[in-house]
Amino acid sequence: MHNVPFSDVKRWEALPSNHKVPTVISLQCPNCAVPASFSVAGWSAVHNAVANGSAACPACDSRITVIAVSVSGDPLTCVVWVIPSPRGRSPIEGLDQLKSISPQLIETYASLLRNFNQHDWVASTMLSRRMLEGMVGVILKDDGKGLVLDKQIEKLPEYVDSTKPVTVLAHLVRQVGNFGVHFNSGAVPDQQTAEATLNLLEYLVEFIFILPKKIFELEEMVERLKSERKDRSNVTPPTTSPRTNDS
Ligand SMILES: [Zn+2]
Repeated sequence: MHNVPFSDVKRWEALPSNHKVPTVISLQCPNCAVPASFSVAGWSAVHNAVANGSAACPACDSRITVIAVSVSGDPLTCVVWVIPSPRGRSPIEGLDQLKSISPQLIETYASLLRNFNQHDWVASTMLSRRMLEGMVGVILKDDGKGLVLDKQIEKLPEYVDSTKPVTVLAHLVRQVGNFGVHFNSGAVPDQQTAEATLNLLEYLVEFIFILPKKIFELEEMVERLKSERKDRSNVTPPTTSPRTNDS
């Protein structure tokens, strides 16, 4: 189930039952992933605050169910849900709240995801590269000026201590976990402590085990793509010279 933001509701209408419902919504189709304008019809009030309708994707004809919940009948108090949820890549959680990343980079990332979700593979690949350039530029600042990206990347370890997150995380898990081990200290672990410990531990697992594995798999994939491309470019086109008669 996906909560549709107000900005994606393009038209509201009032039902005879006085429910305000969205009749046109922009959505990425849950079935074919094409971004489309869905016309929602067949509205019926199932409760004095809840109405449901349905819509078909203009591209693949698969159907979605739309649910509108409104306490006062005012669209501003209405919450709209669709089932099933749209397909597509979601942004990294919390990225837009980071102060260390510029608004331009956040906009590049949003544009990258938009193009990716619209299956524009060329634009999304180019934007990934542009985002990398922007990120490296933010880290190196003036020291990266005049250098090609290859050389800028080589300078990154001077500015980013990749081992620091591991030791910081491990110490944090140890410190928070101590609350659970030393009950006589008076600090009894509660839900917040347990959740914080689990979150920290999972970040650590991701950093130590999962991320290196994913990087290795991506490296293998890039090498394979490079060799496939090389093989393709080595194939000589068929000549138009007269064929000999072998028979
Ligand atoms: Zn579709």
